[in-house]
Amino acid sequence: MKYTGAHVSASGGVANAPRNAHEIGATAFALFTKNQRQWSAPPVTQQQAEEFRAACAGYGYTPQQILPHDSYLINLGHPEHEGLEKSRAAFIEEMSRCEALGLDRLNFHPGSHLNRITVLQSLDRVAESINIALDRTHGVTAVIENTAGQGSNLGFAFEHLAYIIDRVEDKTRVGVCIDTCHAFAAGYDMRTKETFEHTFAEFDRIVGFRYLRGMHLNDAMKILGSHVDRHTPLGDGMLGIEPFRLIMQDPRFDNIPLILETPDESRWADEIARLNAFAQQA
Ligand SMILES: [Zn+2]
Ligand SMILES: [Zn+2]
Repeated sequence: MKYTGAHVSASGGVANAPRNAHEIGATAFALFTKNQRQWSAPPVTQQQAEEFRAACAGYGYTPQQILPHDSYLINLGHPEHEGLEKSRAAFIEEMSRCEALGLDRLNFHPGSHLNRITVLQSLDRVAESINIALDRTHGVTAVIENTAGQGSNLGFAFEHLAYIIDRVEDKTRVGVCIDTCHAFAAGYDMRTKETFEHTFAEFDRIVGFRYLRGMHLNDAMKILGSHVDRHTPLGDGMLGIEPFRLIMQDPRFDNIPLILETPDESRWADEIARLNAFAQQA
């Protein structure tokens, strides 16, 4: 089964997200469970959790179709004590929110070394941050997203993801989300059947499909290896439509949320329909 959707708005409350997803014909969705530009938020109330669960059940969304994303402020590989502690506390709070909402995974960007510590030192901190968060929460998998490698952002190489996973104690609660735009910007080609197969064979060898808990389906504005994180609607960018057809016709991407983060919301319903049509052809 292919689950396709977009990162929808949760404004007015998380319980609005499932309806927003349903309205664009989505069978999956992503959301922020709180304002993504703030460090903290009041805990999820019993009532909010019940409304969210009821809305998900009403529109037919199970946890494996939902990929919450954490705040962009969090840096789990932060070089300095204060920034690291603040990030760890905020991340535990985000994991707890997911737990309260009955969600089983949380998508996040690994972090940045900010040119003050080495890549490996920062990756070690990310892994330790995950271990701490997994100790303090239950039932939620930490889903590391690959990045474009802009600035000092970690996670652009599959080896970074594998390095972190290696150091996470509970392997049952760590996973990855691959963003097609970020992978391409990081130098992983997938524009043809041949390059797609090569890139995902590398992914499988280095990380492993068993860890794949979601995908972000975005076309890329800039060229291969640009390290620039700029999304475009599917088919409008440098990737073109072919990688998305290949994903939709490949069972290795079954049963996980496939999420659009493309810039023009008015096109999401059409993009989802196009993706689903590819799956139908398979
Ligand atoms: Zn992300
Ligand atoms: Zn991006």
